[in-house]
Amino acid sequence: MSLPPHKRSALRGAGLPFLPFAKPFLSEAAIEEVVACLRSGWITTGPRVQKFEEMLSNYHGGRRALCLSSATAGLHVALLALKLEEGDEVITTPLTFVATLNTIVLSGGKPVLVDIDPATLNMDVSRIETAITKRTRALMPVHFAGLPCDLDPIYQLAKKHGLRVVEDCAHTIGAEYKGKKLGSFGDIAVMSFHPNKNMTTGEGGAVITDDKDIINAVERLRFHGIDRNAFNRFAKSGSQHYDVAMPGFKYNMMDMQAALGIHQLPELDGFIAKRVTLVKRYMKALKDWPEFILPTAPAYAHKHAWHLFTPRLKNNGRDGFINAMKAENIGIGLHYEAAHIFTWYKDHFGWQLEDFPNALTAGNTICSLPLFPTMTEAEQNRVIAAMRKIFGQA
Ligand SMILES: *Cc1c(COP(=O)(O)O)cnc(C)c1O
Repeated sequence: MSLPPHKRSALRGAGLPFLPFAKPFLSEAAIEEVVACLRSGWITTGPRVQKFEEMLSNYHGGRRALCLSSATAGLHVALLALKLEEGDEVITTPLTFVATLNTIVLSGGKPVLVDIDPATLNMDVSRIETAITKRTRALMPVHFAGLPCDLDPIYQLAKKHGLRVVEDCAHTIGAEYKGKKLGSFGDIAVMSFHPNKNMTTGEGGAVITDDKDIINAVERLRFHGIDRNAFNRFAKSGSQHYDVAMPGFKYNMMDMQAALGIHQLPELDGFIAKRVTLVKRYMKALKDWPEFILPTAPAYAHKHAWHLFTPRLKNNGRDGFINAMKAENIGIGLHYEAAHIFTWYKDHFGWQLEDFPNALTAGNTICSLPLFPTMTEAEQNRVIAAMRKIFGQA
């Protein structure tokens, strides 16, 4: 009997459960905290968000941490706080999740891309200065896969040209640059707590900064433009009166979400340590394979958060590889196709595929192997064995 290909694949992978490329670990304590939150009668923004913000602040050297419903919301309000005017430019990378570019556009800016360094997959710092014009207002580095960008030259350029820096730290909570945690220095950092990221609140994000004007703007914009948050407003001590400083959004984080964060954050460094161990095993296992280009480390001192492990396939076989792994019941991620190929962006900014050749090539060849803190050696061996089979390795 001949089965259609998708049925055959399902049969071959049968017996072993689907192995996703990412999976959050939620401790019993975290789950109980959510239940306690539900039973407390206070579900939305309140004491647990306040506590989580204090913990995040402590983790980032005492800087202010403002929680939001997502990192996308955080990037949006952080950029709005810069009060961009039409035609103002924000320089960023094409190799990122499209939220980076979308939020620039949604806050009135124009994204200007510089190509990536193919070694690090981060924005190529040596290309930034030529992209700076009279209209440039901000730099928006994305620390790809958990690897911190070379921030010293980035901040030097920002200082020289009077630019703000909004760091998209969606992959990098817990990462360090020259011995300092990202977000604990610099201008504005935005973290993500999406379930695929290094720690989670379900959905959620945070803006970390010590700039008073940004703090004030983010506080208002994340909750209707109202000066005080819901907790103050509804608590006994709060006043029933409020004022609207500007029309704002509904981007607040719930206590239900913060309940997870309160237990995830103390585990974050341990999660990253597990990721590091798994990455070392991948590196060792795939070291001499001719099919792959493995991630390489830059010379500056850094701690990689290893949100993603992203080898690149040398011979344009990426999509076939992802499908073959799917047939083995193993999930492979695709982070990311270069953003300048997307229709809206091509149409609006006239970008051509070949404008950013390194990002284009990376986006066409990259894949994310399964990597999460509770992944077992047996699960990782299964990934490697499936790859051996696909590539006919001994
Ligand atoms: C995940 C991600 C975001 C958005 O994070 P959310 O919390 O899902 O809104 C932004 N930028 C990058 C690079 C991301 O990977």
